Order: sequence, then structure tokens, then C-alpha cells
Amino acid sequence: MIVDRIIDNIGQLCTIPGQVQRGSTLGELGIIENAAIAILGDQIAMVGTSAEIRAECRADTTIDAGGRLVTPGLVDPHTHLIFAGDRADEFEMRLQGKTYLEIMEAGGGIVSTVKKTRAASVLQLVDSARARLDRMMQHGTTTVEAKTGYGLSAESELDMLNAIALLDAEHPVDLVPTFLAAHAIPLEYAHDPDAYVSLIVDRMLISVAKWRAKMWSKPIFCDAFCERGAFTLAQTRRILDQAQFVGLPVRLHADEFESLGGVGYAVDIGARSVDHLLVTTPDDVARLGASNTVAILIPPTPFGLGIPNTAPARDLIAADAILALGTDCNPGTAWNESMQLVMALATRQLGLTPAQALAASTINAAYSLDMADQVGSIEIGKLADMVIWDVPDYRHLSYRFGANMAHTVFKRGNVVATSM
Ligand SMILES: [Zn+2]
Repeated sequence: MIVDRIIDNIGQLCTIPGQVQRGSTLGELGIIENAAIAILGDQIAMVGTSAEIRAECRADTTIDAGGRLVTPGLVDPHTHLIFAGDRADEFEMRLQGKTYLEIMEAGGGIVSTVKKTRAASVLQLVDSARARLDRMMQHGTTTVEAKTGYGLSAESELDMLNAIALLDAEHPVDLVPTFLAAHAIPLEYAHDPDAYVSLIVDRMLISVAKWRAKMWSKPIFCDAFCERGAFTLAQTRRILDQAQFVGLPVRLHADEFESLGGVGYAVDIGARSVDHLLVTTPDDVARLGASNTVAILIPPTPFGLGIPNTAPARDLIAADAILALGTDCNPGTAWNESMQLVMALATRQLGLTPAQALAASTINAAYSLDMADQVGSIEIGKLADMVIWDVPDYRHLSYRFGANMAHTVFKRGNVVATSM
């Protein structure tokens, strides 16, 4: 077979095969020692031992992995990538003892980012997000979910979607947009939150469906923040029921601070994911275990808030749930761009093994974005998204932390970042 390039001399290759790893199957890495990968166009043409690939394939270009580890490109299924400004002042307030909810009730929190985001142009939003997306890519992430939710008006939320579409078109990393107008109640509706819910239900979701029909052919989701101080369960129902009615699959922020019953509802309506789950009850863990709704755990958020990570990761695995990991990159609670940090935290704070953390950051994260047929594993026909890591085996991705271990990052078969 004539191919475009071969990555040879891979010390350890983790293929992480399949479409999803449920419950105790999480962590099957499909390891091949002394491996090679053949790339044709933007896809993986063949995977095997070096001897097998050398016998079967010819290419003009061969890249020597130098005996290093190769994995699929990492997939980050929960980010608030698009925003303006920062909230370093709130970080200092929190260090002085103020809680997230206290800061939110004092007019800080999400609404302060909303003010800055509304004032920014679409191109300014693209510019500031590009720097973060570059950092994600340099750290080995090749597919990223990106939420709206700092516009909170019909016009500004569409601006955020347009920023995501522009950035996706220009950047090697693929973006998966999520419409999150139900992120916070904007100040102008503070006296009547239900009127804002009506605006989302009656106007905004319909314009998103139209935007999608005109602008977007890839997966897109709708999300809501079901939490005290954000949206009640009744309000969340109105929004996500309507989202499904207009054809948008849904995800949900739930159980970050208080359990309002969002998980049970999300499972009932077949939500693609529920995210955070710091205070999820044993009953809801069992519900997730019996569902296809992915439990996305986000270690950087409790770490960023300086609170214990109480997400029941091991219980979810024991209950046969589908577990994935994300960064929650956002200016308030967790401004971080590295899934390597997420794996380091997940192994220490949630009790995942390094193999489980890696599978939760690749194939299961891809599944949660409805992208597992294209990314998340190194298999014939999938996109040639992969990372050569400057480490000898997969355990080092969780074992070491605080420095970037990505050596060469490939997206669709092209080198898009290198540590050299
Ligand atoms: Zn979030």
C-alpha cells in the first residue's frame, strides 16, 4: 500500500479501540509495543507493529517517534472556550474566604464575564479564544467542545456561535459547539428569571436551529446550568425539552454545588452527558449506570475552587456508567487548557487508574460529543489525530504533572504542534 506518511519506532502505542468504554471496561488501551501507524490523506490507513507496517506500506515520509509513547489526540468535552476578560479579582476574593455563590450573589461571577463578552466584537472573541485553543493543541488536545453562555441575549449568544464557527474554520483543532444561553440569569432579567427562560424557549432556540441549518453540518448541542442561583429544574425542563423539540441533542451541568434532580431528568430525556456531579446521590449514580448518558467529571473545577473533589468516580464505574473527563476551561473557576492536568488530578482525587484516565480523555470524551466514529482512538478509517509524547509509557501522562509532555501533535495527519 502506498501511503502519505508513516510514524515508525513507536515504543508504546495506545490505540484505545472501539466506540465507548462502559463501566469496568474503562481503561482498555489496546497497547502495541514497537508499533507504527500509516497515514493516508487525513485518515489512519493501517496500525500494527513496525514489522507489519514496513512489510505492507510504502511512504515518502517516515517520522521516527524515537521509542516514545503515542496515543490518540485528547478530546476535551467540556469547555467555555469563548469569553472576554478575566476574573483574577474574584480568585483573590475566594482566597480571602468568599464562596462562589457569595460572589455570584454580589453581582460577580458569570455576569461579570457577560458584561465584557457583550462588549467584544466577534473577531475579538475569536482572537482571545485562539490563544487558548493554541495552548490546548500544544498540550495534545485535538477535539474541543466549546460552549456559548457569556452573551445571554439573542444577539450576543449568536455572536458566540459565530465566533466558534469562525475559529473552527481557521484552526486545525475541531470544535463542537454547545448553546448554553441557560448559563446564568442576565442582570436585566434578575427580577423575572422565567421571562428569560421564555426568551430562550420562544426565540433563541429557534434562531439556533435556523443558524444550524444554514451554518453548521457537524454535531451541536444545547446545555443548561441546573443549580441554585442559576436555573431550577422546572426551568431546565422547559429549555431542554424545547431544545430537543427543535432537534438539538442536550447536555446538562448538574450537581456541582446542590442536587436539584437534574441528573434523573437528564437520564430520562436521553441527554448525551451530565457534567460536574460533585454531589450526585447513589440513586442517580445507579440511574447513570443504566443509561447511555455520559458522566463527565471535571477535576479542575473543585481544584480551582479549592474545595474537595467529591465526584463518585469509582461508584459510577462500578455502576457501569460511561465516564469521561474535561477541563471546564473558563475564566471563573477553572482557567486551564491541559487535559494532562485533568488526568493527573483524576488519578489522585477520583481514584482512576492512569489507563482509565486516558480512556476517559479520549474515546469516551469523543463518544460524549457524538464524534467517536471519527476521533478518540487510533483505528483504520478514523482521523489521524494523535500525539507523540516525550515519555516511555501511558502511566507517565498521569504520574507526571505541571509540565507539557506533548512532543509532536498531529491533526488530520498533519503536524500541528511540536515541542522542538
Ligand atoms: Zn461548564
